[in-house]
Amino acid sequence: MEKYKFETEAVRTQIERSKFLEHSSPLYLTSSFVFEDAEDMRASFAEEKERNIYSRYSNPNSSELIEKVCKMEGAEDGFAFASGMAAVYSTLAALLESEDHIISSRSIFGSTHTLFTQFFPKWNISTSYFKMDELEKIESLITPKTKIIYAESPTNPGVDVLDLEVLGKIAKKHNLIFVVDNCFATPYLQQPIKFGADLVIHSGTKLMDGQGRVLAGITVGSKELMDKVYRFSRITGPALSPFSAWILSKSLETLGLRVDRHCENALKLAHYLENHPKINWVKYPFLKSHPKYEVAKKQMKAGGSVIAFEVKGGIDGGRQFFDSIKLLSLSANLGDSRSIVTHPASTTHSKLTKEEREEVGITDGSVRVSVGLEHIEDIISDIEQALA
Ligand SMILES: *Cc1c(COP(=O)(O)O)cnc(C)c1O
Repeated sequence: MEKYKFETEAVRTQIERSKFLEHSSPLYLTSSFVFEDAEDMRASFAEEKERNIYSRYSNPNSSELIEKVCKMEGAEDGFAFASGMAAVYSTLAALLESEDHIISSRSIFGSTHTLFTQFFPKWNISTSYFKMDELEKIESLITPKTKIIYAESPTNPGVDVLDLEVLGKIAKKHNLIFVVDNCFATPYLQQPIKFGADLVIHSGTKLMDGQGRVLAGITVGSKELMDKVYRFSRITGPALSPFSAWILSKSLETLGLRVDRHCENALKLAHYLENHPKINWVKYPFLKSHPKYEVAKKQMKAGGSVIAFEVKGGIDGGRQFFDSIKLLSLSANLGDSRSIVTHPASTTHSKLTKEEREEVGITDGSVRVSVGLEHIEDIISDIEQALA
């Protein structure tokens, strides 16, 4: 099979045409599929042939999405989930046994953090954390029960960058499964498998859809690990709906185009904020002032859509800023065509203690902007008047 470039695969990866010879993939809203005869039924259930049986297991629209993301990430196989958190939970639950141990970056998505600290302990699964600038301490956290190294880069909402190659080498050396949540970068900007990741997880809800319409998640990686994830997931039922899979596969046709513009706008806004007198600090991976600028350049094609900054005046300064915003949305989402501003301390990371928040770089005045696809001059004007 010929291998095309990223953009071409994004547009051209498509399920087989039906007898109607449609140009664009049809939507297969069906819960189950029919068998030709008794032998077909037996052989299908015995997994002697690869075919659709029931949409909790597989569906043509999900299969198209999975194949596309596998090509984008350089993965062998995948499974599509109803949300990013369904992907995180099911992937880890499929691989972990009672008493197992996870080593995770401190800076991870809020709900993932809550899963690790409040729910996994119910099954005696424990987690140790490393700080993003202390990768050299990871090896000292490894125990005989350690099974997984878990990381996100860039991180939410601190926009820190972790060296995936370093993490990949540690995982390989100690025979651990390296899992990366690649949601912030998308496979267009960063392909963690190249740096040693075994599994890559995405919330499709963010830049992959990019238009704020569907909740979705996907995990891709080696055939061997994905087989375990598949066996667990086809029984426990977190499957993505065919409708959302169909939307998401269409969204991915324009992923590269959209992400290019998100990054262009974000870099311009980051430069603007860097010179603003009412801002204490700005963090964006492709700003030279970012502490991990060189690492970001090594592993990412561009800086992504999210910027973190701190408004002067602490919590009051932050509140005033949010109350003055006119165009940008105050919303908990990110990676949308509409620019969004959030206050992590009172929203997405409010379940963390103040100490936990500070450890991941969230201060009371921290603002996270997900830079959208509006004209950059309008985005900057809105922020300018809110800061004024
Ligand atoms: C949003 C998000 C998730 C969870 O995805 P949902 O689709 O909201 O369940 C996981 N990881 C990261 C980094 C996210 O931004």
